[in-house]
Amino acid sequence: MIHTLSSTMVFALAQDGRAVHIDEVPNGSKCECLCPACQSPLIAKNGGEERAHHFAHDGRVEDQFCSETALHFAAKQIVADNKNVLLPSPTLLSSEGGSIMEFSEVLIEHRLNISTDDHLHIVADCFGVSGSKSLIIEIAVHHEVDLTKLMKIESLGIPSIEISLRDFANISWNWESLTHQVLYSAQRRKWLWQPITDSEELSVEEEIVTPVLETNQKEWIFDIGGRWVWVKKLPYGNIKVFHRPNDYVRNIVQPLCQNRGFWNPKYNCWVVFDRFQDDVLSSLSQSGRILSH
Ligand SMILES: [Zn+2]
Repeated sequence: MIHTLSSTMVFALAQDGRAVHIDEVPNGSKCECLCPACQSPLIAKNGGEERAHHFAHDGRVEDQFCSETALHFAAKQIVADNKNVLLPSPTLLSSEGGSIMEFSEVLIEHRLNISTDDHLHIVADCFGVSGSKSLIIEIAVHHEVDLTKLMKIESLGIPSIEISLRDFANISWNWESLTHQVLYSAQRRKWLWQPITDSEELSVEEEIVTPVLETNQKEWIFDIGGRWVWVKKLPYGNIKVFHRPNDYVRNIVQPLCQNRGFWNPKYNCWVVFDRFQDDVLSSLSQSGRILSH
């Protein structure tokens, strides 16, 4: 694997299992830290003034995956330690944040079973509990939540947000600057799933700005009668079309996809052949409207 970016790892795994920042540890191998990705011993390079302080793997080339994992590890700890997070705006099209949700407890890497079938589960990056309410918090560093995980989240019916730190692995973070981005930056978060209430269905109608359909994307979300329909490009060119069980949406989606692909019963979605992609996308945008993603 070739890494064109220089890797900057400023967080590492300390002996007590927690994330530590490069400026909190003794210099060199005395830091006694491990890489949270590959478990290799790390050398703390925090004595100099020329280069930004960072951790380095002992005797091997730095790997982008390791620095991304370290950032992910630190971000999860921030949520767990602070026990609160800014929710995304209730409407998809606003860049303003919603309210701050406080938790009595935040569990890291929490497994949630969807059914008694052991394979059907997700591991939430963070799972916040607040009385009878809960929130799944996914932190995107390597990649965003894929459609398979999104469908599982929908099946669980637990409100879920994603905080994106993509392209952030090579920044010389300190705890304060990363904490602000993870917990409170409105631009860095979006809803993955939230229950639709009657009042929210009405508020969707009030939005005026409708983004233009771009057919060269990899993922699209349509609003059809206040319900979401997800469309995602598959690696081999076909597209997946998914929505939560709803008769109104099914009556629109099914005729569009039938005879243009096949129903995948395992994931409850349509797979549409690539040559019909543009037809299906434009029909969906006419039946409802495209949402920004
Ligand atoms: Zn590593």
